[in-house]
Amino acid sequence: MRKTRVRFAPSPTGPLHMGGVRTALYNYLYAKQRGGDFIIRIEDTDSHRFVPGAEEYIIESLKWCGIIPDEGVDGNGKVVEQPNEKHPHAPYRQSQRRSIYRQYAEQLVASGNAYYAFDSEEDLELARSKAENAGQTFIYNHSTRGGMCNSLNMDSGTLQRMLEARTDWTIRFKMPENVTVAMDDLIRGHIEVNTSTLDDKVLWKRADELPTYHLANIVDDHLMEITEVIRGEEWLPSLPLHYLLYKAFGWEDTMPRFAHLPLLLKPVGNGKLSKRDGDKLGFPVFPLQWTNAQGETSRGYREDGYFPEAFVNLLALLGWNPGTEQEIFSMDELIKEFSLEKVGKAGAKFNPEKAKWFNKEYLRKQSDESLATSLMDILNAKRVKCDYDYVLKVVKLTKERASFVKDIWDIAACLFIAPREYSDYSVVAGAAFTKSADASRPVDPRAKVYDDNATKPFLAKDVDKFYKSEFYDAALDAVQNSEADTIESYIREKGLNLGKVMNCLRLALTGAASGLGISDIMTLIGKQECLDRLAFMKQRLG
Ligand code: GLU
Repeated sequence: MRKTRVRFAPSPTGPLHMGGVRTALYNYLYAKQRGGDFIIRIEDTDSHRFVPGAEEYIIESLKWCGIIPDEGVDGNGKVVEQPNEKHPHAPYRQSQRRSIYRQYAEQLVASGNAYYAFDSEEDLELARSKAENAGQTFIYNHSTRGGMCNSLNMDSGTLQRMLEARTDWTIRFKMPENVTVAMDDLIRGHIEVNTSTLDDKVLWKRADELPTYHLANIVDDHLMEITEVIRGEEWLPSLPLHYLLYKAFGWEDTMPRFAHLPLLLKPVGNGKLSKRDGDKLGFPVFPLQWTNAQGETSRGYREDGYFPEAFVNLLALLGWNPGTEQEIFSMDELIKEFSLEKVGKAGAKFNPEKAKWFNKEYLRKQSDESLATSLMDILNAKRVKCDYDYVLKVVKLTKERASFVKDIWDIAACLFIAPREYSDYSVVAGAAFTKSADASRPVDPRAKVYDDNATKPFLAKDVDKFYKSEFYDAALDAVQNSEADTIESYIREKGLNLGKVMNCLRLALTGAASGLGISDIMTLIGKQECLDRLAFMKQRLG
């Protein structure tokens, strides 16, 4: 039995999509369940698609999720460049393994499985447009290679001269004609593909002396003794070529087993979950926030306030079905329960509401103290001064209503700052009034300049009437004469309209029509603050 060794092999072409994090997670769970190794390898042989910062982003994302590699990345989060006991296959960045690949490509030429090709970009373009004019698609393979400029069609003297004189040649795989490749996938079962429509993929390029993905991937999986390749469905079409490459190298005995994971699908309609879906429906598709070279920032789960455990949990269930009702899994439980056999073939639909639900569940699991500490950070950022014990009380009161720590601020801002604007006057006077959009709320409501123009017409008509009515006095009276928890009975005793007095109080205390329980607010902020808020509202609106 070989030791389980799996790898996550991202290309640093941009931020890691949440589907990529899921691939890494499934690899990690699979390895840890078997006491095996989880390896990171950076597949950066396509220099045109290299994006600075992407490698660091990928490593930091995995770290945030608690997906810790055994090999490839050291304790400082750096890709290992020099072999050592723990990282014997270094370097783990393919661009730094350049010297390894050429001999393997040449080996395939020597065994008749590959050949040198000298077709220029223009030649290829011409072949493509000729085929197109004839209503066909050009495929470089058994049907066309005889008419192209390659070593199969030239004598050895010409070949030698061309290899020396030119620096733009490539080595192509010689895809056999009409062979059925029989493959097994751990998720999809048995698959057979006929090679006749497959093309002679480029394996190595003289121009930059670099392999293409296919060659580098097979050679490295072999050298790194990978036992299972667990990757996204988009690589399934490459599987016949990969099988044939293992065969051509004579490595069938140690060929890894393959598992192609289903796609993550958009919440509505069909198709792959994209950044555009996230932008449209307001959810992140990246683990961490990312700013591209154009300065455009994409939101991240971390910055949106997700707990990494919640993110990992929700990702695990996008494609894997534990076969029970259980939905909440810690990383240790996932390691124990995960199995590739229970990963579906069909795409997994992403549900942003369910994602929030997961976070809410994890928020509940947090200690009040740790939530209070996180809330303190938010308060500090808003320059709201508050002592820890008070914040702890606020957390206890609001925790059950929140999905994110930042929700606590949204729910409980009035427990920290007296309202200076009143967003829904209709509660007091029954007037039709537009609510102020939340987005326009300033960081600190005290900074908001009161918009008199918007409120004047209303003030003149309704609030004035209201303040001259008995309810304002009743609310004031109620606060002055009652303990918070007996305020309702006090109002009832006086024979006053409970709803109206409470609405008046609510508006004065919170600035809005809905929110926390009045008696809870009163208990927390205290009698004097309640009276001050009533007085302020009267002065401002009355
Ligand atoms: N570099 C490939 C990617 O970015 C890896 C595919 C594989 O795992 O074989 O997806």
